[in-house]
Amino acid sequence: MPEGHTIHRLAARHAELFGGDKPHVASPQGRFAEGAARLSGTVLEATEAYGKHLLHHHAGELTLHVHLGLYGRFADGAGEPPEPVGQVRLRLTSDRHWLDLRGPTACELLTPPEVAALRGRLGPDPLRADADPDRAYARISRSPTPLAALLLDQSVVAGTGLIFVTEALFRAGLPPTLPGRRLTRAGWDALWADLVALMRLAVGRGRIDTVRDAHLPEAMGRPARVDRHGGEVYVYRRPGEPCHVCGTPVSRGGLAGRNLYWCPTCQPG
Ligand SMILES: [Zn+2]
Repeated sequence: MPEGHTIHRLAARHAELFGGDKPHVASPQGRFAEGAARLSGTVLEATEAYGKHLLHHHAGELTLHVHLGLYGRFADGAGEPPEPVGQVRLRLTSDRHWLDLRGPTACELLTPPEVAALRGRLGPDPLRADADPDRAYARISRSPTPLAALLLDQSVVAGTGLIFVTEALFRAGLPPTLPGRRLTRAGWDALWADLVALMRLAVGRGRIDTVRDAHLPEAMGRPARVDRHGGEVYVYRRPGEPCHVCGTPVSRGGLAGRNLYWCPTCQPG
């Protein structure tokens, strides 16, 4: 599933393509036909990402809400759009650009109270200027739940997925199973600052890189990572391979139905 940096990049991209325009909105597949008809021809005033949620704010208090989920994908281009192939849920067109959405978990219109409710059920997003990390620590510091599970819970922190969580915990030297209530305030402040830095870097690069300069392939004389996610990481999807810092084989274990990765030496607990 795309992590928050991807959604923030999409929000910026869509503002660049259609901001201030009155795009024609359609649902070639038909499943969003009614919503598309209401949006069509209204001004796209702003776009916004909140965690893994994308919002297009149109004039007249109409907000399009998209959650890509596991299979959702956007495609865009200049000029005339191609013939819609497959299940195109949403299509925006202007005289300059087109944008298609396929396979989302959510593609719906929200009223202002519904937008407020969505924001209300999400934790702070490290990529947003209005994020309040104290809100997250209030939840974490009272909870016996493993830290990794808390950080993956979008009501605690929004936008973080398995790669950011796994890697930030490695960089902090914290085991993923550490009960939230054992995380110190200073520990949280450092972890939050690192999430902000890692996620901002990912927005800029369009991929997740978490490895410090000293552990890059060229610095270590090791081959670069080959993975469809791209990016250099410490432990994510590297079970059994040597830790880039200490050489210990990376461990893998399950937590709430997800695979977790960690170095038992660098992240003792
Ligand atoms: Zn290690």
